[in-house]
Amino acid sequence: MKVLVINAGSSSLKYQLYNMTDESVLASGRVERIGMDSSIVTHEPAGKPETRDVSEILDHVTAVKRVIDMLVHSAHGVLKSMDEIDAVGHRIVHGGEAFKSSVIVTPEVKLEIKRLFDLAPLHNPAHMMGINAVEANMPGVPQVVVFDTAFHQSMPETSYLYPIPKVLYRRHKIRRYGFHGTSHSYVSDKAARFLNKPLQSLKMVTCHIGNGASCAAIMDGKSFDTSMGMTPLEGLMMGTRSGDIDPAIVPFVMNKEELTLNEVNSMLNKHSGMQAISGISSDMREVEDAMAAGDSNAKLAFDMYIYRLKKYIGAYAAAMNGIDVLIFTAGVGENSSELRKAVCDGITFLGIELDEALNAERKKTARDISTPQSRVKVLVVPTNEELLIARDTFKLVNV
Ligand code: ADP
Repeated sequence: MKVLVINAGSSSLKYQLYNMTDESVLASGRVERIGMDSSIVTHEPAGKPETRDVSEILDHVTAVKRVIDMLVHSAHGVLKSMDEIDAVGHRIVHGGEAFKSSVIVTPEVKLEIKRLFDLAPLHNPAHMMGINAVEANMPGVPQVVVFDTAFHQSMPETSYLYPIPKVLYRRHKIRRYGFHGTSHSYVSDKAARFLNKPLQSLKMVTCHIGNGASCAAIMDGKSFDTSMGMTPLEGLMMGTRSGDIDPAIVPFVMNKEELTLNEVNSMLNKHSGMQAISGISSDMREVEDAMAAGDSNAKLAFDMYIYRLKKYIGAYAAAMNGIDVLIFTAGVGENSSELRKAVCDGITFLGIELDEALNAERKKTARDISTPQSRVKVLVVPTNEELLIARDTFKLVNV
């Protein structure tokens, strides 16, 4: 069975084609600049050279058509015909309270995703365009939607409610949803398998640290709390997002700087975090390089980033009354040994002891970077959200 995984954004569409017999990736790629002149299609078929094509792609329907064209292309393709694609899985950012797990797309499911446009105005409408584009190009092929929020639907009220008038939750569903759920779920499951222990028996803190970053407290195999909130702005300091701040700063800045709500929103989402404090970049590699060259702003940004991450790990260890496994994943978490060392060296009281040589190794597989004596196992687990989407799609379509 072959499953096509699609992550549709407003002007881009990423794809991976899986052979579910052995979970191998047959091809992957992306369409960029949809709706602009000179759109770019980058296609990477397994075992064949990458291709790059520039043309005009005005909408998502055409983008999906181009993806199919590439997949069945006589030279660069990996399929004889489109009919070999048995199902399509989509990444959807917001599933609200309606979706606690992945589901097959039906007209009712589409309606519900549409109702959630308010909660994810930048993402869900784009995902819907992806679903409709697949429907138009591949009529009758089953589609599955996998939500970034679904894994966190297990959180108790004490974690997900904000201490504000309850009517706001009742009327507008203002609450913590959490994001990166597919990644937190994938790496916690993988970690339990790696350690050869039942997932339900472990208290874990998973740190998904990429451009966007979030931590999750995972207990009994379920999300117990997570740092992102109603939107992906809350929680850790990130590349360009502030993470936690005093909410009273918003009206204060609006008043003092004569900014509109939209401008402050944009400041907190796009011009804060690592970028604002370092004054250099939102990219951890550039900040680390500048810090190594002696830049004091880069060092301050790095130190704040670590400090805030340590506080969340400590808070979640307290929330669960213990921690057995600490997991690092995503671009920064998987690649920055410096970040992992700085974090772990500052929370040894939890029973964490890092093996510096293992931490410094560069590997693309799940690995233990703690010493044998370390009471808390520290793992680096490469995330694979696409594979989890393919697995959920396969499971749902195959029943
Ligand atoms: P996204 O949230 O966009 O999916 P990723 O998970 O791809 O982000 O992570 C991107 C981040 O990972 C960037 O800040 C990048 O600097 C960082 N990163 C990638 N490789 C390294 C590395 N070797 N050292 C430090 N940071 C890295």
